[in-house]
Amino acid sequence: MLGEKMGDYIPIYKVRVKTDGCSAAEEKEIMGKKSGRWTQGIKLSTVVGLLSAFILLSSAIMGSLVNYLNGRDALAAQTLRLNQYHAGELARIGGTAIRNMQNSLQETADYATDNPAAPEMNRRKLEYFRKSNGFFNSLIVIDEKAILTYNTPDLGLTGQKIDTPQIVKALSLKKPYLSSPYIAPTGRYLVTVSQPLFARDGSYHGILAGSIYLEEENRLGEILGTQSEKEDGSYFYVIDKEGEYVYHPDERKIGELVSDEAIRELYAQGQSGTEQIHAKNDKLYLAGYAFIPQTEWCVVFQTPYANVVDFAKQATFQSSLYMLPAVIVVLLLTLFVSRKLSMPLHTLARYIESLANRRAPDVVPDVGDWNYETKMLKKAILLAEQKSREAENDLLREANHDHLTGLLNRRTLESLTEERIQQEDKFSVVFLDIDHFKSINDTYGHQKGDEVLREMGRILTEQVGGDHSCFRYGGEEFVLLLSDLGEEEALELAEHIRTTVESCPMPVSKRITISLGVAFHKGEPTPAKLFRKADFALYQAKETGRNRSVLAV
Ligand code: GH3
Ligand code: MG
Ligand code: MG
Repeated sequence: MLGEKMGDYIPIYKVRVKTDGCSAAEEKEIMGKKSGRWTQGIKLSTVVGLLSAFILLSSAIMGSLVNYLNGRDALAAQTLRLNQYHAGELARIGGTAIRNMQNSLQETADYATDNPAAPEMNRRKLEYFRKSNGFFNSLIVIDEKAILTYNTPDLGLTGQKIDTPQIVKALSLKKPYLSSPYIAPTGRYLVTVSQPLFARDGSYHGILAGSIYLEEENRLGEILGTQSEKEDGSYFYVIDKEGEYVYHPDERKIGELVSDEAIRELYAQGQSGTEQIHAKNDKLYLAGYAFIPQTEWCVVFQTPYANVVDFAKQATFQSSLYMLPAVIVVLLLTLFVSRKLSMPLHTLARYIESLANRRAPDVVPDVGDWNYETKMLKKAILLAEQKSREAENDLLREANHDHLTGLLNRRTLESLTEERIQQEDKFSVVFLDIDHFKSINDTYGHQKGDEVLREMGRILTEQVGGDHSCFRYGGEEFVLLLSDLGEEEALELAEHIRTTVESCPMPVSKRITISLGVAFHKGEPTPAKLFRKADFALYQAKETGRNRSVLAV
């Protein structure tokens, strides 16, 4: 029957039902199609990708920064310790060298005083001594009156009085003596080491003095300065208590007064240690320093801080390079997983969109069920879809049916008749009205009247089977739409229904009769015209006494 067919939702009955209260234009905008890409929002995979990239990169940068800062500070601390060690070693080597020089000089002086009668032999001994150990650039013998009696190499000063303050002091001391660096009359910057010459009888004969030319090649310089500037920019220098450079890799500085207050302060501290020196040239140096006790010279071993920083930067850069492949792999993995996560959501969103546009495929797309949230979402969509279909069905049913009798309503009658006319089907309509229904209402009450209407609906449904349909037209009027029936057959069926109703027990004690108007569709172009014909036939049935069927002509 047609009523049941409505359950299958023949499209012609469908009405546009607004379930969410928004217009089609609004709907379009919600689905993000009205304006540009950004109104659709950013894709989850893009958000996760960007977020992961940000977290990874910021972690890598922070890691590298912390790595760099720690590395730089550790390197600076280690450099300070190493520089102190180097300075200490140099001071020790320098001290040992000077002691060796003094010892050797003493031995030679002893030999000379032991053999006063052999001046030639002494000369040879002195020459041999100077050349063999190479401690001194020159050796001189000065008598107690400060007259130079012998020198090697020959300086051409024999017989001259040498009265520099250092020589005068050495003569007057009559003890082993080590001068501070000074400029000799020859213009050389030198250090003098001297030993007194005492004869066996104890008489004093002057001094044997060895000179080290600080600005020229000398053994002390060789011993200390075998390593000038290292690869990392480290170098050392030696300053004396007057604050002058005794040794410096830049030879021009030797003999110069140290102009840097910070370095002079270092000397003033008087013991070995480490210091960060802010030099006058605005550079920072990591310095270790130690003293040579014999000379009271200070050995300073220093590294430019900028070089340490550069090294730390390089090391950090290297380690960052090692980290880079891992970062890229993690990033790609994150992008892959985020895409894997977002794809099902994207697919489900598209599915919901097509649902809204009524273009949905029959089945929810397969989005896999490895992800809990996706699985839940798919379940929720299925449930929502089912509920929505049910709600839509209910609405359609309500829109197409009469709620009192459950029969199809007048609106449905009109659209179905229109359809039949369009399809040029063979069909008839029967208009049916309960006779004197008002008096039933008046006698038994409105509620009983309703019951009669319901019972009438049931009887009609029972009697009109096959492809035929029953409608409540309004009030106590009903319509039958009879498919494939000609005039006579339709009239016959109308009569059958009339007699059946007449004989059927009703909820009221009074007998119920009906009048019917039958109209066969003879090319009426609209339902209204056909209905008018049937209605007129019904009117005639009423007029001619009721409880009868009249065929429209
Ligand atoms: P006639 O034989 O000429 O058709 O007389 P009638 O009394 O059946 O016709 P009338 O048009 O005078 O009265 C129809 C009555 O039907 C009036 C109205 O109260 C009643 N009616 C209409 N719809 C309903 C309804 O849904 N329930 C009930 N109980 N009564 C209804
Ligand atoms: Mg009526
Ligand atoms: Mg009536």
